[in-house]
Amino acid sequence: MKKEKRKKGESLLLKKVHTYEVLGREKKKLEELCQEYIDFLSNVKTERESVEFTLEVLKSNGYQEMGYPKGYFVYKNKFLAFWQAGKHPVTEGLRIIASHIDTPRLDLKLHPLYEDTSMAFFKTHYYGGIKKYHWVAIPLALHGVVVKKDGTKVKIVLGEKEGEPVLTICDLLPHLARKVQSTKKLSEAIVGEKLCLLAGGTPEKNKDNKEDVFKKRVLSLLNEAYGIREEDFTCAELFAVPAGRAREVGIDRAFIGGYGQDDRINAFLSLKASLEVCEPAYTNLIIFMDREEIGSEGNTAAKSRILEKLIYFLLEKESVDTNPVNFFKVMENAKALSADVTAGIDPNYIEVHDKLNDARMGYGIAVSRYTGHGGKYMASEAHVEFLAWLLGEWDKEKVLYQVCSMGKVDEGGGGTVAKYLAVYGMDVVDVGPPLLSMHSPFEVAHKGDIYMTYKAFKVFLKA
Ligand code: MN
Ligand code: MN
Repeated sequence: MKKEKRKKGESLLLKKVHTYEVLGREKKKLEELCQEYIDFLSNVKTERESVEFTLEVLKSNGYQEMGYPKGYFVYKNKFLAFWQAGKHPVTEGLRIIASHIDTPRLDLKLHPLYEDTSMAFFKTHYYGGIKKYHWVAIPLALHGVVVKKDGTKVKIVLGEKEGEPVLTICDLLPHLARKVQSTKKLSEAIVGEKLCLLAGGTPEKNKDNKEDVFKKRVLSLLNEAYGIREEDFTCAELFAVPAGRAREVGIDRAFIGGYGQDDRINAFLSLKASLEVCEPAYTNLIIFMDREEIGSEGNTAAKSRILEKLIYFLLEKESVDTNPVNFFKVMENAKALSADVTAGIDPNYIEVHDKLNDARMGYGIAVSRYTGHGGKYMASEAHVEFLAWLLGEWDKEKVLYQVCSMGKVDEGGGGTVAKYLAVYGMDVVDVGPPLLSMHSPFEVAHKGDIYMTYKAFKVFLKA
């Protein structure tokens, strides 16, 4: 075995370098990318909207539905994959970046509308891991679709434009909260069933029937605007999400704050990176998954088997036999990034972090060698052979990364789509920018990490 010699005066310590110390002339590109990202975050707040936005971009870049060498595949309007064929056959290698485009939110219930005490409300059922107290007393917008029985689809986005009304969940005033909230555990102080959106306070004029007049008024207005009736809510996907635009954060504008960065940050950056890669050595496959936040269940999620269809499609296009042997050849030679966010160290809560091992804001793309929780339970862990290859590729192109864990061993943990890709035999590792306030209505990312993630994706797709 050949040993690498220590250079004269070389420090053996791992260097931790801040992105802003090395960016130099790239700073301009970083700012352009971040402004574009802010617009994206501000306008795209659901999985359907993510698919819609991306399709438009892909089409204007010459991608065609099930096209080849550049094509895309949409499933149920919520799962999206797109690819660019490489010089090598797909059986020799495939570069996959998979992120998820669903985000925690409040779904309207099946029969959401009711009135009480001369006010109309929408009942909700939260989706994904939220801290319920985050969602009260803030402006919320309504995003989604209603599908009518004749098949027509009504798209609704209400509460984003200047002058449009928003919805909100009212919280109890501190003066009266002493017993009902203040003495309770944080997780119990706000009850899921009470996350009801204030939707109206004007009675419908009706001399004969004074019942449900506030509810009727809301229905009349919805009918005028969207042509829907109360029964249509059962076939609606309407989500309450934080209203308003993403913003720069900090006096020095170092951060970006906004809703849904977990994980649309990686969807956006993988799209941007892939469009800038021309004639890759190995076929690039970018995947946007749905329903990651609730355990990747369902036919638009990572646990479904739609990915297999795409692999067979690529084999077919290369005139290779579409048999299981070739399928597994592709999978075993595939390299994948499970692109998802991780927790950045918050010095205010240092007690849950391992300062030596967790990700620091501004120090580049975070590489979580393993996920899971205490005892590495449910963990997807990357093999070090693959990890070393990846980091070597990034070193060559001066990508700043930090190999890290998420939190102290016994504090908790999390999972991503990585394990559902690993089942096929491919190499996969979790990577992405660290966030502060993850899963809150206003998540925070560092611009330096955003830029390094974009750069890291580009290098990976070309490698
Ligand atoms: Mn995520
Ligand atoms: Mn998440």
